[in-house]
Amino acid sequence: MSHLTDDIRTLRGVGEKKAQLFHKLGLFTLGDCLEHFPREYEDRSRFYPIAQAPVGENCCILATVAQPPSTRLIRKGLSITKLRAFDESGQIDLVYFNQPYLSSQLRQGEEYAFFGKIEGTLLKKQLTNPQFEPAGRGMITGRLLPVYRLTGGLSRTLMLQATSQAVQYTDELTESLDEDIRQQYDLCHIRYAYENIHYPIHQEALEKARKRVIFEEFFQFACGLQLMGQQNITARGIRLTWYPPEDFYQVLPFSPTGAQRRAVHEAFADMTGGKRMSRLVQGDVGSGKTMVAAACLWLAAKNGMQGALMAPTELLARQHYESLQPLMEQCGISCALLTGSTPKKQRETMLEKLSQGEISVLIGTHALIENNVVFCRPALTITDEQHRFGVQQRQLLWDKGADTHSLVMSATPIPRTLALMLYGDLQVSVLDELPPGRKQVETYAVPPSYRPRLDAFIQKQVQEGGQVYIVCPLIETEEGEDERQSAVAYAKALEQRIPQVSIGLMHGKLKSREKEQVMEDFVQGKIQVLVSTTVIEVGVNVPRASLMIVEDADRFGLSQLHQLRGRVGRGDRQSYCVLVSASKSAKTQERLRVMTKCHDGFRIAEADLKLRGPGDFFGDRQHGLPEFRIADLSQDVSLLQAAQKAAQQMLRQDPDLSSHPLLLEKVKQLFHRARQ
Ligand code: ADP
Ligand code: MG
Repeated sequence: MSHLTDDIRTLRGVGEKKAQLFHKLGLFTLGDCLEHFPREYEDRSRFYPIAQAPVGENCCILATVAQPPSTRLIRKGLSITKLRAFDESGQIDLVYFNQPYLSSQLRQGEEYAFFGKIEGTLLKKQLTNPQFEPAGRGMITGRLLPVYRLTGGLSRTLMLQATSQAVQYTDELTESLDEDIRQQYDLCHIRYAYENIHYPIHQEALEKARKRVIFEEFFQFACGLQLMGQQNITARGIRLTWYPPEDFYQVLPFSPTGAQRRAVHEAFADMTGGKRMSRLVQGDVGSGKTMVAAACLWLAAKNGMQGALMAPTELLARQHYESLQPLMEQCGISCALLTGSTPKKQRETMLEKLSQGEISVLIGTHALIENNVVFCRPALTITDEQHRFGVQQRQLLWDKGADTHSLVMSATPIPRTLALMLYGDLQVSVLDELPPGRKQVETYAVPPSYRPRLDAFIQKQVQEGGQVYIVCPLIETEEGEDERQSAVAYAKALEQRIPQVSIGLMHGKLKSREKEQVMEDFVQGKIQVLVSTTVIEVGVNVPRASLMIVEDADRFGLSQLHQLRGRVGRGDRQSYCVLVSASKSAKTQERLRVMTKCHDGFRIAEADLKLRGPGDFFGDRQHGLPEFRIADLSQDVSLLQAAQKAAQQMLRQDPDLSSHPLLLEKVKQLFHRARQ
């Protein structure tokens, strides 16, 4: 019989109402509670003699009740129960409010363990409402006590009850790690791990338990990624014929950088090699990823086949179309644009032509992956700004064509340690070189007192033919908040201060049609200053944009600031980025200083990882990556590497995990959680 599958309602004190609260935390059974790991631990391991217990601190003491507790009613609804207790070193007064029933629970002459904050003076110590248990029980005193994530209405005591109940049944757990892996990496048994992650017998046991549990999470993660990747590496792909990319370079208005040539060469080698390409092109904003995509589409078309380029927004798709269409035309390649707003008639003819193979290159939004879009001879799918789509959509693209090649492009600079994990399943080309002639965006971090000067600077930029972005962290502000933080209020105030400039407003509450329109007007120069929230982040190209102002810059991650900064400096004019922050914290100042000195997205990402943890890369659910329950990608790097090695080892022996059904199940669960 299994207890771990028992419903949470079987616990004493848990009825329908409390059960709902457990459900809110994702806990339905006793077994789920076992997986609800503590957030941290409260150190109650040390008992103090009363005389030595420091006043003002939380302490455990062992003391004998000296006299029967006495209860007095002070006024209606307020009773006070008092007693005195002693040990060999001294005595202490205990006071409880509104708990008259304690008179029968705390017996004269019996010894109890108490826990609470020592009050009073050195000579006359007191505890108010201390927790207690019979001496020697050791449930809530004399140990490290877990602290759990809770929810309103669910008490710590009840959660402690649930988990202490659950750890009684750890013998029902099945070990999912092979004996030899446990030995090789010095990992304790699952039973020991689960008992001690909740109720560690001492600090060392806790560390052992944590190591095992973190390793296991990473191990499952690494197995999952490798399983996905493997399918890919072994998959056959359409073998294209090689055409020299130089033929394509002829039609470009510029000469490709060394990095671009290298990336094109790598992709061409993949696509002509007989295996299915699965390649990530990673390059900082403005490094020219679009051109790499274009060359690959060209190769597919030269082979008489079809390729698709998918962008996360309509505007971006249109920009891609506008820059690629003339190039393709020069090469005699037919190219079309398909988005959500393509008129029905036009769309029907387009889909018809596509299925006949009369269109070779299709550019669009995720309208492209809909079912009714049927290619005649598909060879290649490209996803731009892939971090916007996440793992699941990436998988969807793979699922679509059995043997079509896949190229994904991303400007999110992922630190190398993490890239290894994330894209262990992909081949990577890095564009580590910017096109020549780019001027570095001059970056300044300033306090709010600079704002009047900023108004003048905005006007100057506009007069010289430049355009300005102003990014605010919020759409609207509440009463009493600084209006500069809100895009709506900022735009209004700015219109009054500099009425001669045309100002636009954009934020996430606008309909996507409206957003497109505003962005379009900005691209066309009808709007000179665009006040916005971060919705402008994705790779839109406005070469005249020369000033980026970010209000309350400390609210953003460095990588995000770097992305925002990448919106300017795309033409030949000197551009500027001004980060406004009122924060005086040394850490914040240091972060912003990184931005003023460093222009390399990878180094900024590394700095961000160190200063902020991996939240920016992974907390953001868009990645579709698993949320680790306990492991921390920025802290536990060496365990991560060990787990990855172990996963490789495991999959060599058992490539589809068919001999490890439990592990396979857990891997699926982990990635399933990520998809919700
Ligand atoms: P991203 O990598 O951010 O997607 P884009 O592909 O949009 O960058 O390129 C940014 C700008 O740089 C575009 O205007 C593009 O035409 C230009 N560009 C790309 N490659 C080169 C190059 N080798 N030389 C000069 N300009 C280039
Ligand atoms: Mg781009």
